[in-house]
Amino acid sequence: MPMSELMTDPRLHIAGTASEAIHAERVLDALAQPHVTISGGQASSDDELLAASALYALLCRIFPNTSLELDGALPPNPWGADTIADFVAKQPSAPARPHETPRELVIAVGRCAGPADLYTAGDDWTAIVSRSPLSAFPAPGKHGSLGLHAATALAGSEVVKQALSDLDLQTVPLEAELIWNLLDYRLQAAPATTHTSPAMHQRLLFLGAGSLGSSAIAALSLTDTPGSIEIVDHDEFDPSHNPFRYPAATTVTDGSKVHWLAAMAGPFPAMGAHPHNQKLQDWLAERDSPGFDGTAVVTVDRVDARRDAADLMARHTIAAGVRGLATELHRSTAIDSSMACSYCPHVDVADPYDQVDVYAEVTNLPAARVQELLDGARLTLADLEATGGPIDHRLVGRRFEDLVRAAYAEATLPATSDQSIPIRVSAPHVSWLTGLTIAAEIQKQSLGLPTLQRRLRIDLRGLPLGITDRPEPDLTGRCLCRNPVRQAAARSWYHAD
Ligand SMILES: [Zn+2]
Repeated sequence: MPMSELMTDPRLHIAGTASEAIHAERVLDALAQPHVTISGGQASSDDELLAASALYALLCRIFPNTSLELDGALPPNPWGADTIADFVAKQPSAPARPHETPRELVIAVGRCAGPADLYTAGDDWTAIVSRSPLSAFPAPGKHGSLGLHAATALAGSEVVKQALSDLDLQTVPLEAELIWNLLDYRLQAAPATTHTSPAMHQRLLFLGAGSLGSSAIAALSLTDTPGSIEIVDHDEFDPSHNPFRYPAATTVTDGSKVHWLAAMAGPFPAMGAHPHNQKLQDWLAERDSPGFDGTAVVTVDRVDARRDAADLMARHTIAAGVRGLATELHRSTAIDSSMACSYCPHVDVADPYDQVDVYAEVTNLPAARVQELLDGARLTLADLEATGGPIDHRLVGRRFEDLVRAAYAEATLPATSDQSIPIRVSAPHVSWLTGLTIAAEIQKQSLGLPTLQRRLRIDLRGLPLGITDRPEPDLTGRCLCRNPVRQAAARSWYHAD
């Protein structure tokens, strides 16, 4: 295959060296090998149809030979599809490629009679993935079955891991069965809940509308959580690049990201969304009162965005980030000063006021140019040449963030020689699972159930470990959240004293 074709494959992220071409061919071959069939039962529930469809959305972007063996009407969904056939037609699909020795793989979603290689089931919180038929199924979820969606995302992760391990990436496959839950994130079925009060209205502020933010809003729209969402981002959707990384996107997604997401949330009566096509700092500066009496969801994976979120001191903050196949979710509460905020772990990385200088040092670009790029200018070929590293032409026209942390929800495959940089393959299932956990946190808050008081980290080269940890607050006292005056102010804004 000519290098130009390899370089325009939307799944790959390669610089264009000759040695990469051989490696990239191997990668595309490995992605063409699994022939994945997603199947369901004759009487699949609406939640099962949606979970099977979402799994198809994750896999068809990466594996060209993916099929969804279900049909019928779909309930309202973030992809705006009326039927399964409509859903499939709207998905960005990996470029077709035959394979001489295909590996057949069947994934069963929900109560399926037919034989499969992986069986998935779940309810609102519990996710079950198994290599053998399930003897019992959880009762159907009542609030959108995010646990079932997590189960299908984890089954998709098994397909990705198998393909990547064929390419020498170290992975830990599922052995027999995994039971995990989104309520306390332990490796067991979700504990019984006793909530009886109606779901509470949630005020939400989404700072960032990229692959994580859009996945979280899509996942939230699968639930019946009532609320209002302010969505702040100034980026445009890039139809040549984003669809393969954004599980919630379709072939017709275009325009500003915030307007796309507001339109996505539109058909769901419980949730109203308001787009703000603005830079985060500008939106924050224009507000007439301090704080945010609700939950800020920060999915901009940049230290200065974390700092802006710490500065905002929303009542609750959920911060999510992705590195390669690893994802992190951190929840904090402004009025609980014993908790680390999402910026605390980054304080030591750099003095926030010297952020531009740090980026300048990392990238070799002049500080003035870094500031322009942080203000929204797009990368040019001259910028890439100035970095002195291997030039990835696909970064031309992209955002500065893409240069700083290039491995964003992408699996990095080992390089084949010292000359070639590693090839990266997009991994939308990582964004989707992270979006599901963000939505679960908001849903739990709405239902009055215990929320994450800690940090959840999952490395999808393996499996969820069933543990959360508690990051230490910044001990140097330099983090904005450590300032006693600001802590007192937050307590008065939220009437916590
Ligand atoms: Zn802090």
